[in-house]
Amino acid sequence: MSDDPTTGAAPTVDEGDGLQRSGEAGLRRLTLLGTGDALNGERAQSSLALPLSGEETMLIDTSSGTVLLGRLETAGIPLENVRHLFLSHRHFDHVGGFAPLLATLASLPEASLLVHAAPDTLRALRNLLDLTLPGAEGWLGKRLGWRELIPGKPTEVGETEVTPFSLDHGLECVGFRIAQDGAVAVCSVDTRPTREIAENASGADLLVHDAYGPKDAAEQSHAMGHSTATDAGEAARAAGVQRLVLTHLRSSRFVDPGALAAEAETAFGGPVSAAEDLDMIEF
Ligand SMILES: [Zn+2]
Ligand SMILES: [Zn+2]
Repeated sequence: MSDDPTTGAAPTVDEGDGLQRSGEAGLRRLTLLGTGDALNGERAQSSLALPLSGEETMLIDTSSGTVLLGRLETAGIPLENVRHLFLSHRHFDHVGGFAPLLATLASLPEASLLVHAAPDTLRALRNLLDLTLPGAEGWLGKRLGWRELIPGKPTEVGETEVTPFSLDHGLECVGFRIAQDGAVAVCSVDTRPTREIAENASGADLLVHDAYGPKDAAEQSHAMGHSTATDAGEAARAAGVQRLVLTHLRSSRFVDPGALAAEAETAFGGPVSAAEDLDMIEF
């Protein structure tokens, strides 16, 4: 993105260290592409998009099937802008859209993708690709890269810093603390309550958190590797975040998203909303 004020981008500021900080328009803006749990037919499955500088986009998780491709189009995010993909874990509602995404990117000469995941997830993903779309790793050639994430170790994507941290989901699963342009958003999906969340979301502007059910379904929620709305609210309060958004929601046959948000708000004492697909949230 140009930092020439005449193009409409925000003016740059030299903070005395010689670095130009742009305060770029369009950053600090999460788009929730999918907000349903693995079996929710009313919503797309988990994926969210975050603009990076230079008109690039990073994704966290890929929803399932081809739904992600449609959601990106509706959200106005060009596929060739998607340069970084972070994966939380290997469950199908998070990685099921990877093969269709990769096959589509392969047909775009300008496209490239760097895939970031913790070691077991990265290995499983490459095995899955080999199983379901043999040869696909070669289609992008050097335009496809893999980067192993280590919980607690920050990774730079442009001027954005992404720090993965361990979640409690019964298999390797990480959340992400994203520091961008002076603000912090944290994505904590899928997980049981764990101290890691409050530690890694400390002081964040936004926490996006798993909410499987109400507090009277705590036993079932935890058995499934997930959190209740109250758990999410308590994590938000312990971390001292500014705002909480609930996602990974079960279908309306099982939960009332508005009631979950109200329950979480009681536990948190701050603003809470239940996400909808294609919600854009500034932080
Ligand atoms: Zn999930
Ligand atoms: Zn999962």
